[in-house]
Amino acid sequence: MAVTADQNSTSNGTTGDGAPTTPDTSMFDDIDFSDAEMHDVVIIGTGPAGWTAAIYAARADLDPLIYMGPEPGGQLTTTTDVENYPGFPEGILGPEMMERFQQQAERFGTESRYGTVTHVDFSERPYRLLVDEETPVYAQAVIVSTGASARYLGLENEQRLIGKGVTACATCDGSFFRGETVAVVGGGDSAMEEATFLTKFAKKVYVLHRRDELRASKIMQERAFENDKIEFVWNTEVIDVLGENQVEGIEVINNETGETRVMDEVTGLFLAIGHTPNTEPFMGWLDTDDNGYIITKPDSTYTNVPGVFASGDAQDHEYRQAVTAAGTGCMAAIDAERWLAEHGRVDPQAEKKRVAEPKATAAKS
Ligand SMILES: Cc1cc2nc3c(=O)[nH]c(=O)nc-3n(C[C@H](O)[C@H](O)[C@H](O)COP(=O)(O)OP(=O)(O)OC[C@H]3O[C@@H](n4cnc5c(N)ncnc54)[C@H](O)[C@@H]3O)c2cc1C
Repeated sequence: MAVTADQNSTSNGTTGDGAPTTPDTSMFDDIDFSDAEMHDVVIIGTGPAGWTAAIYAARADLDPLIYMGPEPGGQLTTTTDVENYPGFPEGILGPEMMERFQQQAERFGTESRYGTVTHVDFSERPYRLLVDEETPVYAQAVIVSTGASARYLGLENEQRLIGKGVTACATCDGSFFRGETVAVVGGGDSAMEEATFLTKFAKKVYVLHRRDELRASKIMQERAFENDKIEFVWNTEVIDVLGENQVEGIEVINNETGETRVMDEVTGLFLAIGHTPNTEPFMGWLDTDDNGYIITKPDSTYTNVPGVFASGDAQDHEYRQAVTAAGTGCMAAIDAERWLAEHGRVDPQAEKKRVAEPKATAAKS
């Protein structure tokens, strides 16, 4: 039986005013799927969630194909030391850790490919995927592990010094700044949470905010205001990050007076201006929250589309850690394996025949 997406479900696919949207599949019209490869499980994304899903799917003989997307290895390739992933008592470099994930997944037969899934058609199984706008692939089940991208300011030196004093993860990198002075950019709840957390390690935490009031909830503001180690710098924006191989200061501007100054005591710059989940290709198919994070059913990785599972930061705006992403990647593979065992595989030719058959049967009887 064809399993179809629940188009009446809540949240997205909606237009934002609550009306259900029908995703555009016209880009599939000119693509010939007759020779498209078929895989039991296609995994989209190669961060900790995707590679872990691949390890489990490969070991369950699910013939997984994994697409690496625009950032092979995911967010951890943008950092240096990872000290909180279990099993590495001495810590490990982010890129090296992700290479090891990949080796482990490939050892069990995962097929990994460069390419970005640009469009999906989840209207019926087998699901259709388009890679880089042109390569067709069929999937009996799909695991979405496309992660999220931390927002940065976009300054040239900020980008150059990511992982060398510039970071978007206080939980991950806070303890590297013991006894130092750091700055947090942002004015929302995460900025307050990160600033407060950083006072455990840093001797001083500046919160730089481009306005003169915060967006954060009252309780989070109060907690930060009461903390002696936190100093707020209002109406202020970072215009440069200084240092050759490590952050050695920041240059800021007061956007009211136009006055610039260098804060050379700052050795760590924490961006807390939000994350963007990489879920654009799935909009209209998968339910998402207002910020675009995929909604999964409680205690599982099930999405609103049967046979499509979501794991990692693409569905988690709360914990956003490698180990939690890996955990949900494992869950997604197990969910997919059990779901396929129950619902079986669908042959695309059989699907075409199935549509044609009822008339023939009626003619015979
Ligand atoms: C600077 C920094 C430091 C961090 N340090 C730590 C740390 O020390 N410890 C820790 O536990 N966590 C750390 N984190 C958080 C951790 O990196 C994330 O929680 C984790 O990487 C999320 O894993 P993920 O698999 O969900 O997605 P990601 O790592 O975000 O990977 C997403 C993958 O999806 C791919 N992709 C996206 N769109 C598509 C598409 N359309 N088609 C195909 N592929 C696609 C990307 O190319 C990428 O491979 C850090 C994060 C940052 C930014």
